[in-house]
Amino acid sequence: MRCAGGHATHGRMFRFAAGAHPVEKCLRHALVHPPLAKNALRTALVVGTVLTAINQGNLLASGVFPAVLIWKIPLTYSVPYMVSTWAALRISLIKR
Ligand SMILES: [Zn+2]
Repeated sequence: MRCAGGHATHGRMFRFAAGAHPVEKCLRHALVHPPLAKNALRTALVVGTVLTAINQGNLLASGVFPAVLIWKIPLTYSVPYMVSTWAALRISLIKR
């Protein structure tokens, strides 16, 4: 098989709509497929902000910023990014 990233591969392939001709990419190139990454980023910004407000809103509103939030907040944003990416890969996987 040939990845749209320009190399031969024997692993799993993912198909993405691209006008009249869909493109097929390997996992490595699928993870950086611009529409997939942009959608995951948008989801992370919206859902991550809501989750941060729910989980840390009382602390942030009181003006307190404990050092533990330095890793908790990025982790909170990374979860919806990963879920969105995983879901997009699941529906794009080519079953052979
Ligand atoms: Zn590739």
